[in-house]
Amino acid sequence: MKPIRTTCPYCGVGCGVQVTLEKGGVSVRGDEYHPANQGRLCSKGTALAETVDLPERLRHPRIRGQRVGWEEAIGAVAGKFRQVIDRCGPEAVAFYVSGQLLTEDYYVANKLMKGFIGSANIDTNSRLCMSSPVMAHKRAFGEDCVPASYEDLSRADLVVLAGTNLAWCHPVLFRRLAEAKRENPKLYVVAIDPRRTYTADRASLHLPLKPGSDAVLFNGLLHYLHGSGCMDEIFVREHTEGLEAALAEAEASAPDIPTVARACDLPPDLVRTFYARFAASRRVVSCYSQGLNQSSSGTDKLNALLNCHLLTGRIGRKGCGPLSLTGQPNAMGGREVGGLATQLAAHMAIEDPIARERVGRFWDAPRVASEPGLKAVELFDSIASGKIKAVWIMATNPVVSLPDADQVKRALADCEFVVVSDCVGDTDTAALADVLLPAATWGEKDGTVTNSSRIVSRQRSFRTPPGEARPDWWIVSRVAKAMGYGAQFDYASPAAIFREHAALSGFENAGERQFDIGVLADLTDAEYDELEPLPWPVTVAAPRGTPRLFGDGRFPTPNGRARFVAVTPRVPARLPDNDLPFVLNTGRVRDQWHTMARTGAVPRLAGHAPEPFVEIHPDDARNLSLTEQGLAWVRGKDGKEVLMRVKLSERQRPGSLFVPMHWNGQFTGQGRVNTLVAANTDPISGQPEFKHAPAAIRPCPCAWYGFVLSRKAIHPRLRYARYWARVRAGEALWRYEAAGDAAPPEWAGRARELLGTEGDIWIEYHDTLRNQYRAAVLNGEKLEAAIFIGPDPDLPPRESLNDLFEKPVLTRDDRMRLVSGHSASGCGGERTVCACFRISEQAIRQAIEQGLTSVEDIGRQLGAGSNCGSCLPELEAWLRQSPDQGQ
Ligand code: SF4
Repeated sequence: MKPIRTTCPYCGVGCGVQVTLEKGGVSVRGDEYHPANQGRLCSKGTALAETVDLPERLRHPRIRGQRVGWEEAIGAVAGKFRQVIDRCGPEAVAFYVSGQLLTEDYYVANKLMKGFIGSANIDTNSRLCMSSPVMAHKRAFGEDCVPASYEDLSRADLVVLAGTNLAWCHPVLFRRLAEAKRENPKLYVVAIDPRRTYTADRASLHLPLKPGSDAVLFNGLLHYLHGSGCMDEIFVREHTEGLEAALAEAEASAPDIPTVARACDLPPDLVRTFYARFAASRRVVSCYSQGLNQSSSGTDKLNALLNCHLLTGRIGRKGCGPLSLTGQPNAMGGREVGGLATQLAAHMAIEDPIARERVGRFWDAPRVASEPGLKAVELFDSIASGKIKAVWIMATNPVVSLPDADQVKRALADCEFVVVSDCVGDTDTAALADVLLPAATWGEKDGTVTNSSRIVSRQRSFRTPPGEARPDWWIVSRVAKAMGYGAQFDYASPAAIFREHAALSGFENAGERQFDIGVLADLTDAEYDELEPLPWPVTVAAPRGTPRLFGDGRFPTPNGRARFVAVTPRVPARLPDNDLPFVLNTGRVRDQWHTMARTGAVPRLAGHAPEPFVEIHPDDARNLSLTEQGLAWVRGKDGKEVLMRVKLSERQRPGSLFVPMHWNGQFTGQGRVNTLVAANTDPISGQPEFKHAPAAIRPCPCAWYGFVLSRKAIHPRLRYARYWARVRAGEALWRYEAAGDAAPPEWAGRARELLGTEGDIWIEYHDTLRNQYRAAVLNGEKLEAAIFIGPDPDLPPRESLNDLFEKPVLTRDDRMRLVSGHSASGCGGERTVCACFRISEQAIRQAIEQGLTSVEDIGRQLGAGSNCGSCLPELEAWLRQSPDQGQ
């Protein structure tokens, strides 16, 4: 059967995926014809086939926990929203949507809220990752446009990676960059990041700057470039404005390299090398993501960097330009349709009365919102204060992902009416819903997405949604109809919505708005089905799209000139102090996605980072008596604490902590890190400062540590444990890590209480002196569960026990292995580094010790690194450390 060409639902790289239907499932591979990835996929994309049958799917609408039919659910949502609007006005309702939605879903949600309800209170979780670049682009270029494309990475002389851990967060782009460097060894890569990430390892130069000091670094660069005669005088004279003020601010804050070096806590030579390299490189691409964006002055930091591209005219040409890397698969598509509360639709400004009238006429809308709505943090504050009384949350989990996450949880718990549409029903947010609506997910719905390179691609369905799940556009349109707007929401298909969206982008647009795909408004359903990836704008003059913007030096500002922005560097909203002396930085790990609803279901993605952790520099750890694999309390805002595993790493700057953002109430007991982060936002974009939260850390000594392998989920019975975290160890196997304050008087009773299988065969070993307990529970000859308890985290390797759960009959040796625990080696279990072939760190390091000297050798011998390549940065790092490589 012909493969179905679709796109990956995770990051903003937007890789093309080919799905082949097979007996009993699907197989997935990279789409070699997609311009974003040309066949490559990272570990998450490679494992997509294992996520199509999500175990916790929401299959039917529910009202307060009771299953209902669609008609009743839609009537309840429409009726309550109508009632609140009639009682308190349109500003009393809100939608909180997501970069996971397809453009067509987003389009109808925005149209309903901004055109028909008459409020702009629709914001998206893209506010948390992309709103500072949106505002920086608007300030500099007049419109939210990403000028460069992925192709430019391989044509550049210098690539600046500012606040972006490409190796883990955009792995396929990282591989594209590595390949570009192999083909052009002169390509110079600068990584600007307080952490020495795997991305920084591969860079030609790493600037481990003080967190929050980026604007000084870029202001210094502007001043240096100007003083070194690097200004493109013709470009600046003909195509820009505002240079003088920007230069004055740059000189005031960053007059020379020693001043910059002090402010950024960098050796002056590193700063000098970076500046000289930027000055000497004709073709420069700057990539940036959350490290710059998630700051209380993110917009300014970005404009400080954009200023350098404008000064040197390194924009609009091959191998040149700023390239904002979006976090989510459709963050850019959401921006196109007005998914942010501060935009209207099709890149038109909500503040512009002409645009409002135009959109109102196009939509035949009775009341287009007349002013910007509430941005994400403000929106949830308004729910907390009772100003917003009804909220509809689509495809996102704000109880985990927003800052001050406990306040968000309280706000939703107290809100008069909460609707959640999602594909799974067991999220922290879904637990607070009055109405739960089952949404179709990846593989089940059709539409388009736009990636970081402005490429609009089709996402295609290849299976029927389970139960009564429906696409989001269908759900929103039904509610709109039930609210009385039937004529304007009578869509038969996503193709019809796309045509309308495309038509609006070209409506009364004589080139003023760069976002224009108007020529696609006449696509037939069949042409929409076959639509190939295209970078916008797509016009009569550019029917195959436009890979690079601003080549003619004209910008979508009123006078056609790009604008320098004078940037006064600001310190983060709150600095560390005696009480909270560390800077906490939150972010992604390689193999998990957002709040783990999808990736958390895949055993082979769990092995790379199986537990929530806090990474700390070994010197800081020593001073605080923290040990590798021990547990630690991390404290932040209002004394809130989370509990996680300690990881020592010299990659971390002293004084800094890193905690992954993914863990939630379904996967650990006390690990929602955003409960510690205050809701400080950028005053221009409203983007929260996730990268600079003051925090403290202290050890959490426990009397016992253990793990459980069980076919059944047991965490509801783990309440007595001080700490627990779980991963999927196999298709029908959970692994729990746990620790507690005091060992119970006898473990046998506690184990039975926990595993709940008193009637089966128990094999047990208990050494009361050494506080060691091990047990295996058999159902006939089959292993049901195993439990290992000890006085410290040094417990038997976990992965090697998984295969025992696949055996129909356990041998005597197997049984001995279970209770003897004799194969104990190291603590914390083996970490899987190669997710494709499930190869552990231990096996790879051993192979290197035994003489393997290249990633190719490792690939040949172990398989690791030879498929998706996501583990290559780690393999390369260990090879570099090996004494053989050093000789
Ligand atoms: Fe998906 Fe990985 Fe590509 Fe991102 S880099 S789109 S997660 S396959």
